[in-house]
Amino acid sequence: MIPESHPRYRSLVVREHLVAMVCKGIVTHEGLIAHGRGEAFDYLLGEVSTESAIAACRLAARMICSAERPVISVNGNTAALAADEVAALQAASGARVEVNLFHRTDERIRKITAYLESHGVDVLSGVPVRNIPLAHDRALCLKEGIFSADLILVPLEDGDRCEALCAMGKEVITIDLNPLSRTARTATLTIVDELTRALPMITNACREINECPEMLPPTRPINNQYYLTAALNAIQERLCNAMD
Ligand code: ATP
Ligand code: MG
Repeated sequence: MIPESHPRYRSLVVREHLVAMVCKGIVTHEGLIAHGRGEAFDYLLGEVSTESAIAACRLAARMICSAERPVISVNGNTAALAADEVAALQAASGARVEVNLFHRTDERIRKITAYLESHGVDVLSGVPVRNIPLAHDRALCLKEGIFSADLILVPLEDGDRCEALCAMGKEVITIDLNPLSRTARTATLTIVDELTRALPMITNACREINECPEMLPPTRPINNQYYLTAALNAIQERLCNAMD
């Protein structure tokens, strides 16, 4: 039992939950390492959403709501950390949800799908096609999902696949605490924030847009570099203040 009074209570509870999700076959061991990298960057950001991340979430909502065929691509960590938040975003945005995994097995797809469904997510199913220009099973996606999407929200994505999706002409929004990752630098828009903080902000912004349907789609090109620089500046400022 983790005592609630522990200063790192939330972080410890999340770690325990992720370890339990490894035992259930939803999260991989590699996923735990990816989480640790995210935690390190969140520490540097002060574990709060920066002004620029909040603005990026609002922009993401406008992009999602004005897309023709938006898809949320969910991996094991995203499902384990934010199944409820994905369900809420799907309800607010009407986006399709596809399970797409770096360490892909049919069994993991089945388990993650069942877990998301038990949290109210409507998950796309079907026979995957080898349509992403990548080697091995990372090329697989659903025709009705990622393959025909014009915009994909893919939190915690691998840099290679992010690049491949962009090369297919898709807009890619990612959520990634590391503003230096290849994913962050390749995506159309990167929200440098923690997944469970960012998703509800996108959902709330989608709800606001639904109440004001005359809102215009954002102008292109999206200035991703602005959001990355703002995140790096926020980290730099915290580091400088820590040395005072
Ligand atoms: P890349 O190939 O993009 O350079 P990477 O090797 O740094 O990626 P990946 O394993 O592809 O990392 O993806 C994990 C990414 O997700 C990391 O950049 C990490 O900072 C981020 N991350 C992990 N947990 C969270 C979280 N809860 N919220 C937001 N981002 C997270
Ligand atoms: Mg990445």
